[in-house]
Amino acid sequence: MIIAIASFKGGVGKTTTAMHLAGFLQSHGPTLLIDTDPNQSAIAWAKRGPLPFDVIDEWHEAPATDYHHIVIDTQARPTPDDFAILADSSEFLILPTTPDILAMDALALTLEQLHDVGAYRYRILLTIIPPKPSKDGEQARTLLQAANLPVFARGIPRSAAYRKAASDGSLTGLVNNAAARKAWAAYEAVGQELLTLGVSSSSV
Ligand code: ADP
Repeated sequence: MIIAIASFKGGVGKTTTAMHLAGFLQSHGPTLLIDTDPNQSAIAWAKRGPLPFDVIDEWHEAPATDYHHIVIDTQARPTPDDFAILADSSEFLILPTTPDILAMDALALTLEQLHDVGAYRYRILLTIIPPKPSKDGEQARTLLQAANLPVFARGIPRSAAYRKAASDGSLTGLVNNAAARKAWAAYEAVGQELLTLGVSSSSV
């Protein structure tokens, strides 16, 4: 499958999501992550440590391997043209958003543009959800569902394990401690849901 991770706002866990879903998909078939974000956060992450999947930027040719899955980490603040290209080149869009008003406003803009280019194959992923007693995650989910918007059943909790993985050039799934296991389980659940959505397998 070819999936793209897109968001208007930075700092919502876009790259963390791209890396972890690429890690999950790699366990189901060879996976390539293409970093099209000028910040090159995914490239920098991959340089810090060994990862189980290939990471390239958009200017480099993919290694001569057949990939079953491609994950595209996109640039923040995509223009309507970027969205049109994304909608054309990927089978499914994942829109990470944190459960706060600024991110939700940015999400509304993203959705407007997606609808303008006729891209309906997307799902929203709530990320960096603060722990209880905060109700931010639940409230954001209720709001999105009330608006009939597709949201992944599982959200991504706020956890220092993701930051640690990024700074070590690793994935939470490759670290053996309770916090990392819990952090990985959240992306695993999202990956499983993705696989049930009927997005086709493909190779390049
Ligand atoms: P974006 O690509 O949207 O800018 P990143 O994935 O780079 O977002 O994440 C921004 C910052 O937030 C990074 O420092 C990252 O380690 C951290 N982060 C991402 N997801 C989480 C999370 N679920 N919990 C805690 N920190 C997170």
